Order: sequence, then C-alpha cells, then structure tokens
Amino acid sequence: MKNLVRACSFLTVIILLLGAASLLSAENRGIEHGKRADRIVIRNVIVIDGKGTPPRGPMDVILEGNKIAAVLGADLRPDAYKSEKHVLDGTGMYLLPGLINIHVHLHDERAGIPQPFEYEYKVWMSCGITTVRDVGSDVKKAVAERRKSQEGSIVAPRLYLYETAAGATPEEGRKSVRALKEQGVDGIKIFGMDRDIMEAIVDESHKLGLKVAHHVGVEETDARDDAAFGVSTMEHWYGIPDAALKGSQDFPPSYNYNNESDRFRWAGHLWREADPAKLDAVLSEMVKKGVAWIPTFATYEACRDMTRARNLPWYKEYLHPTLEAYFRPSPARHGAFSQGWSTEDEIAWKENYRIWMKAVRDFADKGGLVGAGDDAGFIYTLYGFTFLDELEMLQEAGFHPIDVIQCATGNNAKIMGLENELGRVRQGFLADLILIDENPLANLKYLFPTGVLDLKDGKDVIRGGIKWTIKDGIVYNTPTLMKDVRDMVAKARTEKK
Ligand SMILES: [Zn+2]
Repeated sequence: MKNLVRACSFLTVIILLLGAASLLSAENRGIEHGKRADRIVIRNVIVIDGKGTPPRGPMDVILEGNKIAAVLGADLRPDAYKSEKHVLDGTGMYLLPGLINIHVHLHDERAGIPQPFEYEYKVWMSCGITTVRDVGSDVKKAVAERRKSQEGSIVAPRLYLYETAAGATPEEGRKSVRALKEQGVDGIKIFGMDRDIMEAIVDESHKLGLKVAHHVGVEETDARDDAAFGVSTMEHWYGIPDAALKGSQDFPPSYNYNNESDRFRWAGHLWREADPAKLDAVLSEMVKKGVAWIPTFATYEACRDMTRARNLPWYKEYLHPTLEAYFRPSPARHGAFSQGWSTEDEIAWKENYRIWMKAVRDFADKGGLVGAGDDAGFIYTLYGFTFLDELEMLQEAGFHPIDVIQCATGNNAKIMGLENELGRVRQGFLADLILIDENPLANLKYLFPTGVLDLKDGKDVIRGGIKWTIKDGIVYNTPTLMKDVRDMVAKARTEKK
C-alpha cells in the first residue's frame, strides 16, 4: 500500500511536470483565425530573416497592430508573458518573413469560365505568400481588389499592381502610361513592343515615378535595351540569350511565333545559341544598370517533363476545375501547347535549363538582384505551389536555401522599392510573417501545403506545411485556409458535374 501511494505521488509529480512543460510549450492564448490584435507575442521561435543571414533564436517577436514592434531574445521564464492577452507559442517553429511572389496575374476567370479571386488568394496564402506583384490583369478590378486587401475586408495578400502599357506609336505609349498612373497603378508592365515605343513608355514611366517590368519575348528589343532604358525587372529570360546571339535565332523556316507549339519548342534551343562571351557581357551590363532578373524557372517546367507537370500530387485536392480545363492542350489558349510534346523537346529543354540556371547564378555572382515569381495559371502551373517550385528551382540553380528565401523576401521587396517595410523580420517592418514547424532550409518542400511524406515508427506521416500565415498583423491558421481551398475546389467540381 505504501509503495502504491509512493508510486501514485511519483506519477502525480511526473504528470504535474509534464503539465508544466506542455503549458510552456503549447500555450496559444487569445489567437483567433482572421483577427488582428492590438498586441501579439510570438514566443520562442527560430527566426530565418529575409536578408541572407543564418537562422537565430530562440527569439520572441512582438507585433503591435500591423507592425513588428520588437524582435528580442526569448524570455523562457514560464510566466514571462503572463499578463499578455494574445500569445502565439512558437516553440519548435521557424519564423520567416511572408513570401513575396513578384510575378503573378490576378485571375477571376480562365478562357471565359469563372474562377473566384478567393481561390487564388487562399492558395497563395496557404503557400505562405503574403504579397504579390500583379504584372498585368484587368486594371479596374485589380485596383478594387487592392483596396479590399488593404482594408482587410478580404483574405488576400498585399497586391501591388504593375499594369500593361501599350500603344501603336511612341505618343500612344506615353498616353497609356499617363492613363494608368491616373488609375492608381504601382508600376508599369510592358511586353512585345518595338524599340522606339518601349523607349517612350519607359521614359514616361520614369517621369511619373513608376518602375517598369519587362516581359521580354522574342522581339525587337532585348536585355541590352532593358539596361539602356533603365527597366527595373527583366521578366522570364528570352531577351538575355537573344542579346548574346550572333545574328538571329536559328529557327526553322516554318517557324511562326504566334504558333505556341513552335514558340515553346524552339525556345528550348535558345540558350545554347548564346555566345558565352557575349552572354557574360550582357549579364554584366544588366548588373551595372541595376536591372533585376525574375527568371520564373517554374513557369516552363512542364517543358522538361510534361508527364510530371500533368500529374502533380496537389491537383487531387487543390486544382480548380476551371484551371484544369484551361490546362488541356489547345491552340486557342495561352500556354496550352503540350499536344505532341516529344522526348526530344524535353531533352532540349533540360539542356536549356542547365545553361539558363548557370546564367542566373552568374548574374547573382556579379551582384545582380534575382527575384522569385511564378507566373502561374498557365502551362500546368498552379498558384502558390508553382511559386514554391520556383524556390526549389532556384536552389537547383545553385542558390543556398538561405539565399533562396532572400530572393523570395528581401530581394523581392527591394526590387519593388519596399525594402524598408517588407521582406524582413525586423522592428518597424510590416507584420507579414509565416510560421512552420519544420526547418525549410533543410528541405524547401516543407513549405508546400501537401508537406513531405516521411516515416515515423514504420508508419507514413506528412511533415511540414505552413502552420500560421500572418498578413498585415492579421493571423491566419494556415491549415484552415488550406481546407477552405479544398472545399472550394470540391464544391466547384460538384457544381460542374
Ligand atoms: Zn506573366
């Protein structure tokens, strides 16, 4: 009997100890999904900042309203924040700046079939994206959405709008820039234009204090023009090998640029046509003139492995039927060129990627600023997921995971001129943050909503997935956002039947 009492009290002590430990390690207090508090303490986290430095911690990060009020060494005393109303326990977690996707398009339809903005927004936020730069969509709608996001009346990342300027003459181009400025855009997007028109548009944009993003296709202008005119960002890549060719691209006589099968097939040969010495000079010129590069590797990934692209595991629960229909091969839709894609095409593209990735790495080594964006919604690219894919491809290109995170946070903020408010875990910065219970530097795949399949005690387990997404001080439970997306997709599929 005496032994039993002793055993019981021993057990009680253990239970009490365990209780105290769990109080210390798992106490979230007053944290509500979709709410911003006056003051929130995020306790005991390891911080991975957006400035290219290694993780540090444990830290306590204090939010006040929509700002980061302090970043402190962790106070590990159990009662340290006893009087605080809102405490998020980050024990065992990693805190990063919210990710910035610098090349997106706002989609509320695909090929005329509706698809709610809410779907795109919530997939983005499920993937840790708290800011996007829209590079071309319906301006009126985009401006209205930006306002709703700023007010916090919708669940959406911050929206920065670089909208499309165009014109058949230089004067028309200038007029188009002025009209966009009046509509309240944050910057200008250009593509596919002749040199004199581009020069006028970039000049007018600069006069009005607007940065310019250039989607360079195969056109009259190339990376040297971007450098000469002072464009902020070169989107994608064509204009770089084009600037390093000896003469024109070696396209077959039957090539037609407006035939997307031709366009994407032969694009897979362009990097090897670039003269290495000329290419090196072009990259140096871009760096010298401060043109940043948004390679969007992941946009084209289907080209090197079409079977993979058509069968990604996240389609099962996260692919909206509207987007699914849009992806099917069709000469009528942009990026739906996969009909008849061949082994040879993929081999060409794999080589294309090797040279392209080396060029991006060389560009960064010369001091060039590389940003991360995904251009999703075309060619089997799914919002958010493809952005995370882009991070993996940056690592493949030779970037250390810390530098990859920097591309997606600090660099992207700097490219948009927001380096004093976004992309860092730093006092005074906007409270855009993500929390994850695995180390993304060990495996970027932990960032995916679908996590990483692993084994624990011989059983399948899913590890990772972001746990909290904080935008403008508003705290979202990320698995809840993921569920919203899955429900939206399931409902849209049922309605379609
Ligand atoms: Zn785009």
